Amino acid sequence: MRVIPRVKLCCLPTPCHRLDRLSEELGIDLWIKRDDLTGFAGGGNKGRKLEFILAQAVEVGTERLVTCGSRQSNFVRQLGAACARFNIECTAAVMDLPYDQAYGKPTGNPPGEGGNLTLDELFGVELRTYPDDDWLVLFQHAKNLAQEYRAKGEHVIEVPIGGSMPLGAYAFAQAAVEVGEGWDFVVCPTSSGSTHAGLAWAYHGTSTRVIGVSCDPEEDLADDLQRLTTGIDALSESSKGLTKKDFDFRRDWVGDGYNVPSPAGSEAIRLAARTEGLLFDPVYSGKAFAGLLELARNGTVSGRVLFWHTGGLPTLLASPRA
Ligand SMILES: *Cc1c(COP(=O)(O)O)cnc(C)c1O
Repeated sequence: MRVIPRVKLCCLPTPCHRLDRLSEELGIDLWIKRDDLTGFAGGGNKGRKLEFILAQAVEVGTERLVTCGSRQSNFVRQLGAACARFNIECTAAVMDLPYDQAYGKPTGNPPGEGGNLTLDELFGVELRTYPDDDWLVLFQHAKNLAQEYRAKGEHVIEVPIGGSMPLGAYAFAQAAVEVGEGWDFVVCPTSSGSTHAGLAWAYHGTSTRVIGVSCDPEEDLADDLQRLTTGIDALSESSKGLTKKDFDFRRDWVGDGYNVPSPAGSEAIRLAARTEGLLFDPVYSGKAFAGLLELARNGTVSGRVLFWHTGGLPTLLASPRA
């Protein structure tokens, strides 16, 4: 067996427990995987990916990691903390509200100040803020930043948005081992795709169905997911060959667009808080939980169901944009 280098950042395994009140209300056997409690830099799903991504960066002796995201990106926060641990500089190109030109810019407001921004400053992240534009423009800004530092003689690695590279997806193929089989459904938020891709890969060929609830209206998500699972095939030397039809993702709970809270998401956040004392965020886990609630109520999802809580608490605490 090939061993993929890994550093330790998280407190694993994260807890997994039943939600009694919501199980009763929904008529399903509902459990939750608490990756909001990964225990590193405020928690969230990115810590798992970073254990592999940082191991690679440390191995090649890089001096700076450059990434991109929204201004309230949970990934930028967790990457910044991971870089601090290994004495690597961290730079991120950010926009308030990156969007997909094909769908237009959402009219609602993204989260404002505080939240992840407060933590980014603590972790020493260099944030470069750009005017709102298409995702591809944001990616180009990150490329340019990496070039800028390379021109200064630094060894720089670009980390894709959300840590969605094969190593990030591999982390979630590994995470599935913590909860094992015996689920009828596993439901998770999906955006840059490596969480969903890793879980879909892990459960491929079993009786567990994995459903990703999309948090942005991306056209090419199926392509991204397939690219990531092909990457897991290569890393794990166990080729499962997933194709686009193997990914079940739902776009019905995106709301107004990526990074803009939705009424259904806000309602789901309240319900989870007031029945189970759980904290979901308005950009990812709240919208995905809104999806789970409706899928359970309309009978699409039944039996033994696991919701994968991906974190995001700092965004819940960010002030609304003025
Ligand atoms: C990044 C993120 C997601 C989405 O995970 P991907 O692997 O990027 O699809 C979901 N929830 C939270 C809180 C996140 O920060």
